[in-house]
Amino acid sequence: MNLEQKTCKNKNCQKVLPIGYKHRYCEACRNVQIENVKKGAKAVGGTILSIGLLVVGGKNFPKK
Ligand SMILES: [Zn+2]
Repeated sequence: MNLEQKTCKNKNCQKVLPIGYKHRYCEACRNVQIENVKKGAKAVGGTILSIGLLVVGGKNFPKK
């Protein structure tokens, strides 16, 4: 049985994790990470949408 005290892997956090805790990051850091992933996915989706609109717009307004 491994009773070694684990701490959050976030160097800015280092919060002591409960024994038997399944994750490497504390709950707060995990939430932040999830938010970042969501924001990242949104940013990528927005960029793709913008490029798509540019392509469509270019077809509607061809340059002479
Ligand atoms: Zn943490």
